[in-house]
Amino acid sequence: MSQRPIYLDAHATTPMDERVLAAMLPYFTEHFGNPSTNTHVYGWEASAAVKSAREAIAAIINATPEEIVFTSGATEANNLAIKGVAEAYFNQGKHIITVATEHRAVLDPCAYLETLGFEVTYLPVQPDGLLDIEQLKAAIREDTILVSVMAANNEIGVLQPLTKIGEICHSHGVLFHTDAAQAIAKIPLDVAAMNIDLMSLTAHKVYGPKGIGALYVRRRDPRVKLASQIQGGGQERGRRSGTLYTPQIVGFAQALEIAMASRELESDRLLQLKKQLWSMFETLEGIHLNGSFTDSLTGNLNLSIEGVDGSALLLAIQSAIAVSSGSACSSTSTAPSHVLTALGRDEKLAHASLRFGIGRFNTTEEIKTAGEVAIATIKSLRQANQLQPQ
Ligand SMILES: *Cc1c(COP(=O)(O)O)cnc(C)c1O
Repeated sequence: MSQRPIYLDAHATTPMDERVLAAMLPYFTEHFGNPSTNTHVYGWEASAAVKSAREAIAAIINATPEEIVFTSGATEANNLAIKGVAEAYFNQGKHIITVATEHRAVLDPCAYLETLGFEVTYLPVQPDGLLDIEQLKAAIREDTILVSVMAANNEIGVLQPLTKIGEICHSHGVLFHTDAAQAIAKIPLDVAAMNIDLMSLTAHKVYGPKGIGALYVRRRDPRVKLASQIQGGGQERGRRSGTLYTPQIVGFAQALEIAMASRELESDRLLQLKKQLWSMFETLEGIHLNGSFTDSLTGNLNLSIEGVDGSALLLAIQSAIAVSSGSACSSTSTAPSHVLTALGRDEKLAHASLRFGIGRFNTTEEIKTAGEVAIATIKSLRQANQLQPQ
């Protein structure tokens, strides 16, 4: 039997932790009730499970349970936050600020709003991927209603200065949304201390199930108004209709609790693995680190490689290592990553990039093998290129 490639794509998704699966299983079969049903015990059981999951998730970000709206994931949470605020506040202004390196699930709803007459400012980033706070300040206008800046970037892992951004938004009376899909339970996130008004979460990037996430919506100082984007049975206080998916919600909370309990240890361990991998690449010429090494998720290493063709490189290593180039979400397009071009990488270097996403279940041996395979492949591709007439 041929061995499956080493999985190093934790920013695309993560395998589910066995403990999460175990917590979910009874809610598919035994406790299958509809949590909105209040006439019998089947509904009560499901409702109790959702209630305690909601409380656990809220506590992790220092919110209250009423401020959590369950969604199908971070894509839906971002859409609800951005379109929901735009629709509720357009009387006060039609200007939104975001960043060029955001996930498509933020950029595309913003682009959609532009077709409806909203104005969107896309702030550039510095060469290390970080936002320039002065540029943010300068971009805020009288009619700005929302600033959306992600917590951790899905391609380069860069951590934006949320506390500073929150302070600025708060002092200007502008709502602050953050897409924390990659950051939740990996870095400290506190909606009160960071002045975050809306925050998108998802379970499947932290060893939880796919198809479940949440939007945190602040209820006081200020109370955020939100126009629902899915109408129906009135679940989630009318903010998002649809029968709650009890097993996924239970798994989501379980995944976050496990990740929180081991957060610092796991973060340190991933940093050791990242350093191990980087030290191997450092022995090669023409390797560029994309983003910041320090203001970054510890499990992320994104490199641009000179002298190789990006697709040839991926093709050559994919049987040994599962990584991506750019982001999986746009892997169907051949355009270079918008994140890497925003850092100032030219088209060639943006194409010739590898994103390593190191996760909970990766071992030192796997990192060693992955580094060796990637380096050997890069060397042989470079050699082949040199033999070819240019
Ligand atoms: C994965 C991801 C999303 C999309 O989340 P889903 O739950 O898969 O919809 C949004 N934003 C970022 C930053 C992500 O990494």
